[in-house]
Amino acid sequence: MILSGKAKVAGVMGWPVGHSRSPRLHGYWLESYGIDGAYIPLAVPPDGIAQALRALPALGMKGCNVTVPHKEAAFRIVDVLDPAARRIKAVNTVIVRPDGSLEGRNTDAFGFAENLREGAPDWQPAAGPAMVVGAGGAARAVAVALLDMGVPELRVVNRTRAKAEELAADLGAAVTVIPWEWRGRALADSGLLVNTTTQGMQGQPALELDLAALPPAAVVTDIVYTPLLTPLLAEAKRRGNPIVDGLGMLLHQARPGFQAWFGLLPQVTPALRRFVLEGI
Ligand code: NAP
Repeated sequence: MILSGKAKVAGVMGWPVGHSRSPRLHGYWLESYGIDGAYIPLAVPPDGIAQALRALPALGMKGCNVTVPHKEAAFRIVDVLDPAARRIKAVNTVIVRPDGSLEGRNTDAFGFAENLREGAPDWQPAAGPAMVVGAGGAARAVAVALLDMGVPELRVVNRTRAKAEELAADLGAAVTVIPWEWRGRALADSGLLVNTTTQGMQGQPALELDLAALPPAAVVTDIVYTPLLTPLLAEAKRRGNPIVDGLGMLLHQARPGFQAWFGLLPQVTPALRRFVLEGI
């Protein structure tokens, strides 16, 4: 990679940041579109995030992604928020504006929606309730995406009920909270099931959820993508339910940031999926 003095520079701030796939993903696009630019990992500790974000304009950088544990802090630091970030209460994409101010966006909802549309083109949002397992940061983005896609009822079930209640209070009357013990039964008329918990990730136990009541046509998706076929997705596949893995969410959420920093909306292709998977 040869850069000119005019290269556009962006990156990802995280702590730790070594696990992030974003440099590989953006690096692939920069190279394949022949863009004079760079996307770099930025290891920023929690007590340095405000200073690091404020340094972006001074360094002439175009902006950055922010990942764990900085998404909520970035939400409080930036100058302007897009509507998605305001509803999700977290920022994953920061854009330096011409006047040096910082715009915070959240593109996780966009990434989730694009991945679901691509992976389950026949799924009809209005067909029935959707159930979201989990109420952490990612669940908020998933809930916003599903409400915007037109899901009539969103059932949220979380081990810690208070977090589900908070999410429901923030996102409106279409969101109902289901007690953790009823999660299997509540699947009975669902059109979509989404796992947003960390359960099923490499090194974590599988999500404890009995799919017996789930209608056979219901789509099952997991935002965990290591492994690609989580125990939940494997079980749903075995039952014949359509499944959508979580890698596409990661790939699609990156597109709006790339466009803002480097001037072109990049595409998610099978070759990109393979390339990112090789790095996992
Ligand atoms: P988070 O804010 O820490 O939330 C974690 C969630 O998992 C909470 O709902 C938590 O429930 C639940 N949980 C943890 N341990 C559990 C257990 N033993 N039993 C039941 N529930 C449990 O994390 P996050 O940022 O939302 O991320 C969640 C997952 O999504 C991670 O695996 C992350 O890698 C993945 N993710 C993927 C993408 C993508 O692009 N595909 C994007 C973002 C995140 P409690 O509230 O009870 O603790």
